[in-house]
Amino acid sequence: MGKFHTGQSVPSTGTYHFVGHMENSACQPTENEKRIPLTAGETFPPCRHCKTGAFWEIRL
Ligand SMILES: [Zn+2]
Repeated sequence: MGKFHTGQSVPSTGTYHFVGHMENSACQPTENEKRIPLTAGETFPPCRHCKTGAFWEIRL
């Protein structure tokens, strides 16, 4: 399905999983922060924990 990053537009509604930070980071998001529900048309958010750019992936 693909991998997305902060600032991109969400292609389809679903639960997205945190994959990693866009830049090296020692941040460790919690399990809760790693799974976020998003709706098509929204913008991918930054890491919920440290607020820097992150990669997200949809898993069905
Ligand atoms: Zn982070």
